[in-house]
Amino acid sequence: MSDSVLIIDDSDAVRERIIRTLESFDLFARFYEAEDGLEGFKKLLSSPVDIILCDLEMPRIDGFKFLSMLKSRPDLQDVPVIMLTGMNERELKIKGLEQGASDYITKPFDPEELVARVKVHLKIKHLQDDLKRSNELLLELSNTDHLTGLFNRRYLMEALEKELQRCIRKNGCMSLIILDIDHFKGVNDTHGHLQGDVVLQKVALSMQKELRSYDIAARYGGEEFVAVLPDSTHKEAMFVADRVRLSIQGIKFSGALAPLSITVSLGVATFPSPNCATVDEFIKLADDALYLAKANGRNRVEFIE
Ligand code: GH3
Ligand code: MG
Ligand code: MG
Ligand code: MG
Repeated sequence: MSDSVLIIDDSDAVRERIIRTLESFDLFARFYEAEDGLEGFKKLLSSPVDIILCDLEMPRIDGFKFLSMLKSRPDLQDVPVIMLTGMNERELKIKGLEQGASDYITKPFDPEELVARVKVHLKIKHLQDDLKRSNELLLELSNTDHLTGLFNRRYLMEALEKELQRCIRKNGCMSLIILDIDHFKGVNDTHGHLQGDVVLQKVALSMQKELRSYDIAARYGGEEFVAVLPDSTHKEAMFVADRVRLSIQGIKFSGALAPLSITVSLGVATFPSPNCATVDEFIKLADDALYLAKANGRNRVEFIE
């Protein structure tokens, strides 16, 4: 029993009766009280709770205003609210439910009914919390970038580490390409962020198309992409990078983006290379090459040994 509850009602007597009822069923570790919506909201901000029982008619900030304040906060909007209403207030009950309340209890309340309804909504809240936690965990464990479908940075770093170790063990070679879209800020400024995202998706697709099945294509950051090419020499990687460059330059955009054409700058590095022993150093090498490609006029591939 670690749950907490907030009871908002302008009547001291009602609050007291509710607390006494809930106490006798051992449902909560902590009880918070408030006399109106504003006080309730302030309490909620300093001590998050698992469920709220809220009167509808109160002076100043009433139950409806409280509900709309609650629903405007992403961190609080999933806390269940049970409204406390009068017996014959049909319209208010409907309005409250429409505004996001989970349920209602009519006053004067039946203690067992109150407890039963509180239990139901606590259970739903716990299930929702579990679901939210699992989703967050899944997202954290996931390997893909959701916008482009390429691998994400987390996966890239793991894969790169493994590939580098393999390379060292087998005395092999491998290459890394870092790609950054040229003047991408301008695309966002002219066409908006959503259209910018469409460009990212198309660029990702074009890059992937030019790679072999065992190469790794990842979104490294906002509009930066990386390709890992196992067993590829410097010469092979330069060839692939230029093919990617040309392919992206040739993308035909449609709809609102129709007149647009996009270019990218690419940096290439190949392992083994002098003074390069770690993944970070390897990335730095490719990144320096990318910087050179930008400095030398963009829409080109550069290599640093
Ligand atoms: P440069 O040729 O020097 O690379 O110029 P640039 O305008 O592309 O400059 P930079 O690489 O610094 O631009 C990064 C821009 O990419 C800024 C940011 O608004 C945009 N961006 C980053 N992530 C995203 C995203 O997920 N979606 C969209 N639409 N834009 C993004
Ligand atoms: Mg009242
Ligand atoms: Mg960039
Ligand atoms: Mg850029």
